[in-house]
Amino acid sequence: MYEVMVERHFAAAHFLENYVGPCANMHGHNYRIQLFVQGDSLNKDNGILVDFKDLKAHLDKFIDTIDHKVLNEVLDIHTTAECLAKYFFDIMTPHIPTHTKLTKTTLWESDTCSASYIP
Ligand SMILES: [Zn+2]
Repeated sequence: MYEVMVERHFAAAHFLENYVGPCANMHGHNYRIQLFVQGDSLNKDNGILVDFKDLKAHLDKFIDTIDHKVLNEVLDIHTTAECLAKYFFDIMTPHIPTHTKLTKTTLWESDTCSASYIP
């Protein structure tokens, strides 16, 4: 089994709904999103499981729509790290090559706080 990971960064604002505490106020994060893709077989000609460039390109298309935005205004989900991790999982699943599997997405809100979605 092979596993590859790609990571992208974006900046956005959000606030937590139905929450009592400072995070109920609008604030921002420099987010990092990581995709983990696994598969058993490599391309025999080049030894590649899945092209990093393709994964990054699909991810960047989505990130362009939320970068420097208020996530609560552009997404129809709770904007917790947990919900964002699942959201990235769901939007990226159709773009994963069929001989591989998206196994995990990890969304980092800061250097010390992350949430992952694992189906
Ligand atoms: Zn936050």
